[in-house]
Amino acid sequence: MSEAGTKPAKVAIVGAGLTGLLTAHGLKKAGFDVAIFDQETGLDMRRRDWPLMLHWALPTFNSLVSESVLENFPKALCNRYLDFSDPESSTMLCANGMTGETLFKSAVPGMRRVSRKRLRGVLAAELDDGTIQWDKTLEKIDVDGDDGPATLTFSDGTTFSADFVLGTDGASSKVRELLFRGADVARVQPSGFMCATAIVKHNDAAKVQPVLGSHPTATIIMGTESVGGCSVMHADNPDDISTWAITWIKIWRRSKLPDPPAKNGPEALAWIRETTTGLADPFQSQIQWTSSGDDVFIDEMRTWVSVPWDTLNGRVTLAGDAAHPMLVYRGQGFQHAVTDADNFIKGLVSVRDEGAKREETIKAYSDDAAERGAAAVSQSLKEADMSMDLESAMKMIMAKKGHAK
Ligand SMILES: Cc1cc2nc3c(=O)[nH]c(=O)nc-3n(C[C@H](O)[C@H](O)[C@H](O)COP(=O)(O)OP(=O)(O)OC[C@H]3O[C@@H](n4cnc5c(N)ncnc54)[C@H](O)[C@@H]3O)c2cc1C
Repeated sequence: MSEAGTKPAKVAIVGAGLTGLLTAHGLKKAGFDVAIFDQETGLDMRRRDWPLMLHWALPTFNSLVSESVLENFPKALCNRYLDFSDPESSTMLCANGMTGETLFKSAVPGMRRVSRKRLRGVLAAELDDGTIQWDKTLEKIDVDGDDGPATLTFSDGTTFSADFVLGTDGASSKVRELLFRGADVARVQPSGFMCATAIVKHNDAAKVQPVLGSHPTATIIMGTESVGGCSVMHADNPDDISTWAITWIKIWRRSKLPDPPAKNGPEALAWIRETTTGLADPFQSQIQWTSSGDDVFIDEMRTWVSVPWDTLNGRVTLAGDAAHPMLVYRGQGFQHAVTDADNFIKGLVSVRDEGAKREETIKAYSDDAAERGAAAVSQSLKEADMSMDLESAMKMIMAKKGHAK
């Protein structure tokens, strides 16, 4: 029921990335009326995909989704044929970038690696009932007086009013910009670390096998001026690994190389090939074996060290990358997004069922997300810094504590 006790509170979510879709599932399960708006024209608009590890937040993720998402979850796994009972499957191999010698194995308890794109598909399938509205770019949010609802205005001139608005619109969040009234403090910042990712279809078992043979989940090389990693991206036919896709990632300091001539496509690949030499296998060979038809993307990673935001009388807040865009180190971004989703829903339930005050509840939720986020974003920057040198790599949290919370 809404605060007036008549009908379910209406929640508008801006952004149909993993955070928005997951929160919509949890809210529906808890009996709220949900609408999601995304600027993209559909799930397939963005070509780029990447693997992400769900680990310490997996039990919370499972508690928020429906039975049907749980059933379909294996479709999103990068390698559903992995032996999850093998303790090695809950680690990642971290090796010397020059020699390939093992430096340490980073513990990732309970890890399931998923394709972002496929998980998005699994989560969106059940919301394909009009809950998601595509091609809606948020431009403005107005809150009516001290206690009125929030009204979203989109670039096509349409509007939508809701009791609560959750900005899950990613690193360059428009909702965040609006909550800070355009002030510089809200702006995402270049991190100084570049990231290239690729998804490679070799159609040749001899080129897939070295990745599987190195480690069942992922091999990361570090301690040189760049960090590289490779792992299985899609394992569709268990009887024929030549059909499997491999993904690789390379991270380096922007200051160490001239900017690439292109952000994707054959020119970007040619540049990566030219500037990536002498690193350890299986990473180095994967770079050489990537062909011009494979998807390669290069970008500078961006961060925002979260600071508490205004919630417009407890009507509007942020979650996921909009609240704390961080670097990929230790795979924490989505873990915090899942935590946000869970905390936000619990907050709304306490307003609805326990008479908690809206403004105080949403402020408490937001302050926690900002504090947790700031710590995680700062930590990810420090880990990146330490990963580029052999001695400091051994002192990373990834080495000492693994990927734990
Ligand atoms: C290479 C890589 C590896 C990663 N690995 C891990 C990992 O192992 N573990 C982990 O926990 N995390 C990982 N992450 C982070 C993780 O992918 C993100 O934290 C996660 O996907 C959550 O994203 P999100 O939904 O908050 O934002 P996004 O995915 O950016 O979604 C935002 C959505 O908002 C929409 N939008 C933006 N602006 C507007 C607007 N004005 N109006 C309407 N819609 C708008 C966009 O179209 C988009 O669909 C990784 C990230 C990368 C890049």
